[in-house]
Amino acid sequence: MEQMEGLSVTKCTRCPALVDSRSRIVDGTGPEDADLLFVGEGPGANEDSQGEPFVGRSGSVLDDALLAVGLERSAVRITNCVRCRPPENRDPTGEELEACRGYLTQEIELVDPEVIVTLGKVPSQHLLGRSVAVTNEAGSVEEIRLDDTPRRVLICVHPAATLYDRSQEETFEGALETAADLAGVDGAGGGQTRLDGF
Ligand code: SF4
Repeated sequence: MEQMEGLSVTKCTRCPALVDSRSRIVDGTGPEDADLLFVGEGPGANEDSQGEPFVGRSGSVLDDALLAVGLERSAVRITNCVRCRPPENRDPTGEELEACRGYLTQEIELVDPEVIVTLGKVPSQHLLGRSVAVTNEAGSVEEIRLDDTPRRVLICVHPAATLYDRSQEETFEGALETAADLAGVDGAGGGQTRLDGF
């Protein structure tokens, strides 16, 4: 796409409301060849001010859960469905999700992860193209086709869900364990290997 250089989006003004509310475009972070790609909904206030996805309290929850399954944050890639902060942290509209879809698709294509982990309802529904009951379906893996390439999507609750409902901790950690297994993590933080199937 003309406004994407590698994995970075520059000067995009497709979503007028988000252009007004953002401080910056928040691109994904992490290795460009990561085996695990986490996809959130969009930047919040902390992400908008720091220019990085999943920082603040949700980011800490994610970091801790990653460590618990033997993964450093620096070993995974983290991105969002929309790269600009919606006003007053509202959900991105369908139009905004569609406007940004090409960037996410290109990022998935370039990173070519073994597993895509959707963090919460919006990214799960956006990528799977169906209604998702995240709490019930967390930890399940579904295959989708993006630009004719099969991709595995693992549904996960949003890390913030564990802050409001402690019972979600187990669900969240269980999903990350499945993600680590699929990516071949050795359980001691010793890195990842490629999988041929699951
Ligand atoms: S959310 Fe995506 S499509 Fe919309 S203005 Fe930001 S970068 Fe562009």
